Amino acid sequence: MEASRIHNFNPGPAALPLPVLEEIRNEFLNYKGCGMSVTEISHRSKWFDEIINGAVERTKRLLHMGDDFHVLFIQGGASLQFCMIPMNLSLPGRPVDYINTGTWSTKAIKEAQIQGKDVRVIASSEDANFSYIPKDYSVDPDAAYLHFTSNNTIKGTQWSTFPDAGDVPLISDMSSDIMSRPFDVRPFGLIYAGAQKNIGPAGAALVIVRKDMLERVPGDIPTMLKYTTFAEKNSLFNTPPCFVIYVISLVLRWLEETIGGLEKMEQINKQKAALLYDLIDQSDFYRGTAAPDSRSLMNVTFRLPSEDLEARFVEEALKEGLGGLKGHRSVGGCRASIYNAVSLEAVTALRDFMVEFERKNG
Ligand SMILES: *Cc1c(COP(=O)(O)O)cnc(C)c1O
Repeated sequence: MEASRIHNFNPGPAALPLPVLEEIRNEFLNYKGCGMSVTEISHRSKWFDEIINGAVERTKRLLHMGDDFHVLFIQGGASLQFCMIPMNLSLPGRPVDYINTGTWSTKAIKEAQIQGKDVRVIASSEDANFSYIPKDYSVDPDAAYLHFTSNNTIKGTQWSTFPDAGDVPLISDMSSDIMSRPFDVRPFGLIYAGAQKNIGPAGAALVIVRKDMLERVPGDIPTMLKYTTFAEKNSLFNTPPCFVIYVISLVLRWLEETIGGLEKMEQINKQKAALLYDLIDQSDFYRGTAAPDSRSLMNVTFRLPSEDLEARFVEEALKEGLGGLKGHRSVGGCRASIYNAVSLEAVTALRDFMVEFERKNG
């Protein structure tokens, strides 16, 4: 079985670390001797308590967070967060600021507008097809928050350093780069990530919210859409996505114990990305689509000389055991998603394939 697994460059749901998949398989029928599968136990059991508390504690340790943050698991993916953030965290009479760097930011902005919030898009890279991270913007000190997307999964751009918003809390969609590098959590009021890119299977968003932000949550919104509901009950107000949280807990343990933390993970991620970007820079055949100073370490987007060659590239790569290289349907081209779980070995195999494909077709 393992022998026929391919190198998985899918954008999401995406690769998971092989040792994690093996562990799931090994303990799937009888979780830690309890006589049941982890999918069959109560979310109120001691076994599940250990799982969810372990995931919360590891998140705090990996990101060097203090106790001034809640770590929550909420269903509805990153997309529900687009809606919950303005609903819970805007402030009467004050604007909410957004930076627009692509498809996902655009969707986040739309959800705030639907709710009639005073949305200001203070910067955008739409003028150049979202191929770069904006540098010129000024944050209104009166803004309730500043929202940005740390990694633009579709366009292949990433904030290498985060915006400085002074005392205005930052809010970031980190769906496709959470846990890929260390950063200072203190300027953030809220961080969220759909699990299925970098930390687990689909079915939950990891939401990290600074405790003082919860004072903003209005009383008159539905129970299941309030952050306070999740914070007060450790994400256990109702049945949470138990299996997803279990897998996340294993991925976080792998990050801590096998990889050795986010500093180490970042070094590996930089090495992986450099393998592909160095090749793209040396080649007249492959053309990167993101501005070099805005390139993502997670999603490497590139074009070939023709759409025909791109289609053949994706097809032949798959024959060589390299899957998921087609660009997003909205932009075309090719994309290699090289999240944490994609090994240096996998990226090296892709680089070698790219060299060979250029030699044959260039
Ligand atoms: C995939 C993705 C989303 C959408 O996530 P869902 O969990 O499917 O709602 C949002 N933002 C970013 C940056 C993404 O990569």
